[in-house]
Amino acid sequence: MAKDDIFKKIIAHCKEYGFIFPSSEIYDGLGAVYDYGQNGAELKNNIKKYWWDAMVLLNENIVGIDSAIFMHPRIWEASGHVGAFNDPLIDNKDSKKRYRADTLIEDFLDKLEDKIHKELEKARNKFGDDFDEEKFKETNPRVLETRKKINEIKSRYIKASEKEDLGELKQIILDAGIACPESGSKNWTDVRQFNLMFSTQLGSVNEDTYTIYLRPETAQGIFVNFLNVQKTARLKIPFGIAQIGKAFRNEIVARQFVLRMREFEQMEMQYFISPGTEMKWYEFWKNARMKWHKAIGMGDEKYRFHDHDKLAHYANAATDIEFKFPTGFKEVEGIHSRTDYDLGNHEEFSGKKIQYFDNETNKSYCPYVVETSIGLDRTLFSIISNAFTQEKVDWEGSAKEERVVMKIHPALTPVKLAVLPLTKKDGLPEKAREIMDNLKLDFNCQYEEKDSIGRRYRRQDAIGTPFCITVDHQTLDDNTVTVRYRDTMKQERVNISRLQEIMGEKVSMKKLLEKLK
Ligand code: ATP
Repeated sequence: MAKDDIFKKIIAHCKEYGFIFPSSEIYDGLGAVYDYGQNGAELKNNIKKYWWDAMVLLNENIVGIDSAIFMHPRIWEASGHVGAFNDPLIDNKDSKKRYRADTLIEDFLDKLEDKIHKELEKARNKFGDDFDEEKFKETNPRVLETRKKINEIKSRYIKASEKEDLGELKQIILDAGIACPESGSKNWTDVRQFNLMFSTQLGSVNEDTYTIYLRPETAQGIFVNFLNVQKTARLKIPFGIAQIGKAFRNEIVARQFVLRMREFEQMEMQYFISPGTEMKWYEFWKNARMKWHKAIGMGDEKYRFHDHDKLAHYANAATDIEFKFPTGFKEVEGIHSRTDYDLGNHEEFSGKKIQYFDNETNKSYCPYVVETSIGLDRTLFSIISNAFTQEKVDWEGSAKEERVVMKIHPALTPVKLAVLPLTKKDGLPEKAREIMDNLKLDFNCQYEEKDSIGRRYRRQDAIGTPFCITVDHQTLDDNTVTVRYRDTMKQERVNISRLQEIMGEKVSMKKLLEKLK
């Protein structure tokens, strides 16, 4: 199936099964804003818990906070967002579609890389074991020509971005012959800067109001609380502050479901360190964060690092962890070495001393920062899109039928188990309720008695419930139930007294966290 068709199918599934709804749908929706339904909210909470516990529970020197969304407007001047949190915008005059000029160029470079990749694959198939990849890359004229083109565009692009030379960005698009992905037209407007921050007015009387911004990242709430937290928690460097919260960006191009929203959620951790140790901690957090992603078990090959060629205004090293979505690799998390840019600027703009006193050296300094910044919505969608599986199965001996099953890690699934009485009579519902009452304090359970058992299994498969517990007449005689496993569809007869142990083992967040040690 084409990539776009799978993407659309998954989006439809998200809506049909209560994961994600378009916001304000009865008013025809609101661009790039989404609501999480009953299953999406549970999944989101579980991911947050996995992240929070991995940061705050497992690291004695990391604490978590929850800062306000509204902050003093000077914060965004100090952080550089008022001046530099811009995207270069370009319109196609024929299709009237709007794009980010940088994204158009980066996508074009990716296409050229793909071209080289395809040449290599073709040659590998042709020459088999005798294929010498390095030699081929150095001598094949088509590969050499494409590589030269990539290097030329890249070097112009980096220079133009650093100098914020918008005329040159447009010239690169024209020289490279980049066309509008929708219409194929090369008729472009000039490139303009567009600030991504939303603003609003604070205060009730006209004269008292002033403009404030909806935060475009959660990190600044951590920086401005650096002294409060360090002093009250008596933390010694190195230490970290973690936070989960909403961020807002008026994205120019927001056509990718929850991958690019105007209101989204970030899970960020700022690690405060002494100057000169930043590369050590940058490497440390790169590895630690990759381990966290891979522990979810979606396949190590689905992840890769992508080092930034073009650094943000605050960073001296930066990489992205990218995940392979059905439409291709895309960033889910950024790891940035932010130097003392933020604390230093807040010191200057606020006029307050923001220093750390090192008892051992008897010196004060402005700490450096390595940050890990992961998008909750993109992580959630990586899990959903990876879990979405269509299978041909034999339902109770009938002809082959398709089932959709969400193979989400059991510790993260919205519902952990469903308790299903085989029929609505003979005391089976009462027995099922009794079982559920015992389990619901530990697990998110669902009770369902409507429809055939096969239909109920299918509904649970579609939301990823790892266990279905069926209560039948035999249960009343010998206190046993059948446990049906989501992925294998195997059924097993077990005593009710063992349910807690069977479920607990599989759905435990502890098991997931243990992989990080
Ligand atoms: P991109 O290059 O895709 O715009 P970014 O580099 O601006 O992302 P960061 O500022 O590093 O993103 O933010 C950290 C994380 O927040 C990203 O890795 C991503 O998961 C998430 N994120 C950023 N912008 C959005 C958005 N508009 N919608 C959903 N998630 C987002």
